[in-house]
Amino acid sequence: MYNNITRRRFMGDSLLAAKTACLGSAFLPEFLNAQEQSRPLYKSRYHIIDAHTHCGAPHDDSVPAQLDIMSQTGVNKFVVLLFDTLGWKYAGGWSKDKMSGWPKLLKRFPEELIVFGTMDFNRATWPTFFQDIVQKLEWQAELGVQGIKLWKNLGMHVRDGNGKLLKIDDPRFDPYWAKCGELGLPVLIHSADPRRYWTAEEIKDRMYRYRQSWMPSWEELIRQRDAILKRHPGTTFIGAHFGSMSSDLPMVAKTLDAYPNFYVDVASRLRFMAAPSPETVREFFTKYQDRVLFGTDTFVPYIDSILNSSERMAQWKDRKSRNYAWYLEYFETDHKNLAEPRPGSELVLSGAKLPPEVLEKFYHINAEKLIPGIKKGRRVEE
Ligand SMILES: [Zn+2]
Repeated sequence: MYNNITRRRFMGDSLLAAKTACLGSAFLPEFLNAQEQSRPLYKSRYHIIDAHTHCGAPHDDSVPAQLDIMSQTGVNKFVVLLFDTLGWKYAGGWSKDKMSGWPKLLKRFPEELIVFGTMDFNRATWPTFFQDIVQKLEWQAELGVQGIKLWKNLGMHVRDGNGKLLKIDDPRFDPYWAKCGELGLPVLIHSADPRRYWTAEEIKDRMYRYRQSWMPSWEELIRQRDAILKRHPGTTFIGAHFGSMSSDLPMVAKTLDAYPNFYVDVASRLRFMAAPSPETVREFFTKYQDRVLFGTDTFVPYIDSILNSSERMAQWKDRKSRNYAWYLEYFETDHKNLAEPRPGSELVLSGAKLPPEVLEKFYHINAEKLIPGIKKGRRVEE
């Protein structure tokens, strides 16, 4: 366990910026208690793509370390989503430097690694911003990105040259969304957040208290997101975190029914999604088996102080592989008492036990259909 000084120093680095992407999930590599540690790791038989992970500027050892973590539970491939946190409390911008490390790694790991680029908000106030982002999109496609990630700061924090919040459905973005479709790049879009973050009473963390006079409502952000789904039927959109509707599966269903170009991932939202009952979840996944992607929101290790320390790396590996095991055991079995392996979490789930054909699609076939250039993974029976 780290002492306070080490932890404070650790919290000060750019990983904290990244933390805001997740649902307050602690990513500090703390040890779990002895009882949790002694539980054998659940390992899957399926071919699995984690379609939602993050990383800062990659270290040479980042990808091998992540593959090692995932192999403990049978996960084979992962999508790294770049993003720009401009406007957020812990802003960490996307930059050419951060992008530049990836092409080399893509060449080294063509089978295992997929990278999604992002929109660079650094010049959001410049008159040329809307042309610039289209040019940068083409540049990123040339570097080998296989999709685009947009974060929730679009709609909630990023402002234009007049100081106005940029709306997701601002028509000036239309050429950008159209170009994503033209290039065949899916857009993984995180818009809004769980609806409850707009009711300040129950939110302890200031960072997630969205009931502010200047903040658009949850309904307005969802409306903006849906407007682009409708306006760009030729572009594929994947709603991160169940499209921020994880507490309302009927609403997810309605949105998927209305927009055939819309898909969702499950990253960081098992808590809300699993709340109704395993049967309800199974029914939803069976009906929408072509529309949901597996993802965890995990962080690929990239900080020198972790990668260069065998002790810290061992802690990180233990935490992260247990988190994978928890997801997989939840989706594949009807085991009871699946405790989230996160220090301090009281979340306990009962497995949804999805049918094998549904798992195949959810774990890899849907991602292989949407993301260009992925080699098809084997099915269990092959
Ligand atoms: Zn994320």
